[in-house]
Amino acid sequence: MNLKVILDKCDGCGLCAQSCPFGGIVVEGGKAKVLDVCTECGICPESCPTKALDMGGVAVGPAEQGTAAYRHILIFAEQRDLKLTRVAKQLVGKARDLANLLGVKVKAALLGKGVEPLAQELVAVGADVVFLYDDPKLANYQTDAYTKVMFELINAEKPEIVLFGATHIGRDLAPRLAQRLATGLTADCTELEIDEGERLLLQTRPAFGGNIMATITCPEHRPQMATVRPGVLREPDPDPSRRGEVVVKAVKVTDADFGTVVLQIIKAAKQAVNLEDAEIIVSGGRGVGGPDKFPLLEELAGLLGGVVGASRAAVDSGWISHDHQVGQTGKTVRPKLYIACGISGAVQHQAGMKDASCIVAINKDPLAPIFQLADYGIVGDVKEIVPAMVAEIKANWMEGKL
Ligand code: FAD
Repeated sequence: MNLKVILDKCDGCGLCAQSCPFGGIVVEGGKAKVLDVCTECGICPESCPTKALDMGGVAVGPAEQGTAAYRHILIFAEQRDLKLTRVAKQLVGKARDLANLLGVKVKAALLGKGVEPLAQELVAVGADVVFLYDDPKLANYQTDAYTKVMFELINAEKPEIVLFGATHIGRDLAPRLAQRLATGLTADCTELEIDEGERLLLQTRPAFGGNIMATITCPEHRPQMATVRPGVLREPDPDPSRRGEVVVKAVKVTDADFGTVVLQIIKAAKQAVNLEDAEIIVSGGRGVGGPDKFPLLEELAGLLGGVVGASRAAVDSGWISHDHQVGQTGKTVRPKLYIACGISGAVQHQAGMKDASCIVAINKDPLAPIFQLADYGIVGDVKEIVPAMVAEIKANWMEGKL
């Protein structure tokens, strides 16, 4: 525990206890007392008029140190089951571009058990330095322990930018850190750029229900922090010959740092569809006509070796589950081939699929906006076109006929 009460400065006013969102500090015998539930979030030292709370040399507010003390870009390199997530590699690739503009290094934090082989993968996609925290205690993601490790790393390294994937883990970890570091966080970004003159990260994300794209900056506090949606950034081609530094770090978490204990991990029986990694997606919208038509799309996707996606209209109608939804409030995908069946092409849908390498649209309305985006457009009834495609593939593309 870094937070300490300096007893001769404490006048027992209780403002710290009032400010604490976790009930982690009380006044006893006229002095503040820190309880075990304290998360060291950093709020109470700012509330104390007599400066009687000390974070043990840990920075409370980066503004105190000035933004110039912060340099380099740090990525939280999320891994699952000892595989780097694609968004981790996408973030390193983007960080590489931004770091080149800023003239700084790309650093990655890699946490887990048995993750050491992943360090070179991070270097291959653009990291200069990998901080390796390889320890059985970090085998499973745990909010408190991971927050502690990342908090200490950020305070020691002082990166000017810290990036996370907008995954379940990134969305859990990043806000905790931002709060503890007393800095800002832009969630769910779809684009990142740099204002080179001001060294500001320009963080763009949909706002006001997706009606505008807002670009957000964090001019006065460091680090500048953002979570980025998986799939919106390009994954760089790895260069196995790239060299970087792997810094093995000691893991200083103890059992007391774990708020919960993982007893067992049970994988969901139904594997959610993996749209983000799919190379071919056959997506259905309202124009498909009903849930009974989706098996036809599944058949086409199956023949092509792809998976089925959907527009929000199809999902909201209950024709297919939300994990198939593509778009602003669904998944962002970058397949090689995206076949949009009976989808009008609303901006919110385009937000999730516009970067597909090749887009084929099937729509009976020749003026549907999707045709402005499509590489190939088929004007016609999806209920006729899709069966014709299935029949054609079966007749001529299967069994080596083509
Ligand atoms: P429609 O817009 O109704 O289009 C149906 C199309 O099918 C029409 O173009 C029609 O010509 C065509 N058609 C009809 N019959 C046939 C036929 N027999 N054969 C061929 N074509 C036919 N949408 C998403 O998809 N993903 C999102 O993540 C998402 N997020 C959103 C977030 C917000 C904040 C908001 C406000 C909206 C969001 N939307 C999202 C909804 C979006 O605005 C559209 O309403 C939705 O994408 C429309 O779905 P659709 O194209 O299937 O339906």
